[in-house]
Amino acid sequence: MNYLRTMRRVLPTVETFVQGIRAGNRVVLGQAITLVESARPDHQALAQEVIAELLHPTNSNPVRTDVHPGEQQPTTNNPTLRIAVTGAPGVGKSTFIEALGTHLTQQGQRVAVLAIDPTSSVSKGSILGDKTRMEQLSGNDMAFIRPSPSGESLGGVARKTRETILLVEAAGYDTVIIETVGVGQSEIAAHSMTDLFLLLLLPGAGDELQGIKRGIVEMADILAVNKADGERVKLANQARAHYLNATHLFPPKPNGWTPKVLTCSAEQGTGIAEIWQTIEAFKAHILDNGFFQENRKQQAGYWFKETLQAGIQKAFFSHPKVRKQLETLEPAVLAGQMSPFAAAEAVLKSWSEKF
Ligand code: GDP
Repeated sequence: MNYLRTMRRVLPTVETFVQGIRAGNRVVLGQAITLVESARPDHQALAQEVIAELLHPTNSNPVRTDVHPGEQQPTTNNPTLRIAVTGAPGVGKSTFIEALGTHLTQQGQRVAVLAIDPTSSVSKGSILGDKTRMEQLSGNDMAFIRPSPSGESLGGVARKTRETILLVEAAGYDTVIIETVGVGQSEIAAHSMTDLFLLLLLPGAGDELQGIKRGIVEMADILAVNKADGERVKLANQARAHYLNATHLFPPKPNGWTPKVLTCSAEQGTGIAEIWQTIEAFKAHILDNGFFQENRKQQAGYWFKETLQAGIQKAFFSHPKVRKQLETLEPAVLAGQMSPFAAAEAVLKSWSEKF
């Protein structure tokens, strides 16, 4: 984090960040994300000012002057698309994102790839971060790849990713892919900040074997059986038929979309164009029926409350009065000398007296 060390001396101004991001300057964008990810209160405050400025209604959707040939200006009629990509470890998420991302950049689109990996705080145990990933896409100047922020909790990691989405969109990336580790709660976090949920599956293995919970399968708008190549083509088609049957039994989705099941080979690039066509059809569907706008509104409300809750919790537990009380009351509860409810009541009372 050399950048943080430099910033400790002089923090760039809001204006510098906003102009740099709007101009699509990747270095400035990276620096702004570092601010979002920083735990320092002054960095956090500056990050919020930058985001607020970028989202200001009269300032948003700027006309970019750096649009590449063939690339479209994102407009209110054609907003950015946020896609969650998940699946069990080893299913081929990074290979798939590389293939899809390359397909999109070839069409003149700009793609940002972010990740939610709560294991990245324990850097050695990180599921997504410990391999050389997406080499081709990393070297592509139409793509921006950022590894998962590290954090003490999934909630913290997810909040930072949510803010980073806003930054990359302001920098002109039209498609934002959020990759998750595919082992549990991180999918739900990714679902709460995206428009489309894409689940990758392995040929010839049931949900249980892939460690995928039914609820996750039901969240998917598109299911793609990957590794449909060589000897696995037959198995992949069988898996496709199996999931197609399963999706018919799912309750109807609030977005009015019937989940589509496809096969692909991320390694060979087959089926990728079809998946993108399906993604575009999905986008047109939810723009048309109003779910796109409604869902983004709901998500904004959710993140507002989520961030408030996290802030209140942090402020509460770091307050000296509360900390002091916890020091004495917690052992009393553990020793059975005080009921947990009476102890909680006492702490809450002293907290409310603070006002
Ligand atoms: P992740 O853990 O889900 O990100 O999976 P990776 O993208 O790292 O892929 C895991 C392994 O599966 C790697 O060895 C890939 O080369 C391989 N793989 C990924 N996609 C395909 C595919 O479409 N076909 C085949 N045969 N192998 C693949």
